[in-house]
Amino acid sequence: MSRILIVGAGFSGAVVARELAEAGFSVDVIDKRDHIGGNAFDFENEHGIRIHKYGPHLFHTSNEKVFRFLSRFTEWIPYRHRVKAMLSDGRLVTLPVNRITKEIVGAENVVDTFIRPYSEKMWALPLEKISPDIINRVPVRDDENEDYFPDDIYQCMPKDGYTAMFERILSHPKIHVQLNTVFERSREQEYYHVFNSMPIDEYYDFQFGPLPYRSLKFHHVNIPAPKIFPVSQVNFTHNGPHTRVVEWKNIPGHGDKDIITSLTYEEPCDYKENNNERYYPVKDNDGINRAVYNQYRVIDNPKVTFIGRLGQYVYLDMHQCVNAALVVAEQFKQKQNK
Ligand SMILES: Cc1cc2nc3c(=O)[nH]c(=O)nc-3n(C[C@H](O)[C@H](O)[C@H](O)COP(=O)(O)OP(=O)(O)OC[C@H]3O[C@@H](n4cnc5c(N)ncnc54)[C@H](O)[C@@H]3O)c2cc1C
Repeated sequence: MSRILIVGAGFSGAVVARELAEAGFSVDVIDKRDHIGGNAFDFENEHGIRIHKYGPHLFHTSNEKVFRFLSRFTEWIPYRHRVKAMLSDGRLVTLPVNRITKEIVGAENVVDTFIRPYSEKMWALPLEKISPDIINRVPVRDDENEDYFPDDIYQCMPKDGYTAMFERILSHPKIHVQLNTVFERSREQEYYHVFNSMPIDEYYDFQFGPLPYRSLKFHHVNIPAPKIFPVSQVNFTHNGPHTRVVEWKNIPGHGDKDIITSLTYEEPCDYKENNNERYYPVKDNDGINRAVYNQYRVIDNPKVTFIGRLGQYVYLDMHQCVNAALVVAEQFKQKQNK
């Protein structure tokens, strides 16, 4: 009666697991990967530099409840993310576009310099076909503010990294984690309820068709120099296949040796060209993909709650995942008490 299965050891699964374990449920967490943390997983490379395996994860939120929950499992290092874009002559200008960037490139060139090339290679769609929600996530400012997330109250990195934070979230006598374990439908009968953060279309054997995702190939390089860039992220404005480069040492707590620096540059692609690694649900302007997702969503399946960005086919930041997971766990607990 009290056994719960959680598919996926990322933010969504780990937070639900912790909440239900503390409420007395026995929780089994499985993940097909060989590590916990989902896409927020990080590790130290051979040079003692911390790398986020699935791209840079910057924590930012104004949600007090989320911050308080995670602070039980980590100390924090303050960090306000700053991003530059590299122009064709190599000059670096601030992103999101602020007053100074606008003066340098000209207000009339902002879309064609920063938004069109980046977005078109990111989504493999002409700008006009991409949902305005995505384009509007990168605002244009009239002041000189250089922060990438100007408004969020809490902006910081977990002091010992994300993986260490996940180890603590999942460290509870009522949580049992099994890695390298792919979900099988037959397991459901052993459990009272299943919280599933796997792709919902895959769970239902793609009966309404596959949901498209974009993915990223990560290319890592080490350079024998103390530091290359003034900020941790530099976006490209060219039409080549790569979108941005991350210099890990520029994030505090990510390494301090002065003889080498590690960089990762990113190349967007379809998820099928990258081992089925699904990162970004494709938000098309016509809403066709959302309509397909809705066909899966309404299937009657009372034993399973789909959670997270793959279960709900939506891009969620980490703080949004944590918040949603806290809400789902709370609702589940309340239902049991009725
Ligand atoms: C490149 C990139 C950069 C990002 N940067 C930021 C950022 O700066 N700030 C921010 O707030 N958010 C960022 N995010 C978003 C962040 O990654 C997500 O909010 C969060 O990781 C989603 O957690 P999740 O648990 O929903 O999904 P995931 O982390 O994807 O976890 C799902 C887990 O389920 C497992 N799984 C899937 N299928 C199966 C199966 N069949 N059987 C068993 N296990 C399975 C997967 O292996 C995975 O570990 C970024 C995302 C990407 C892709």
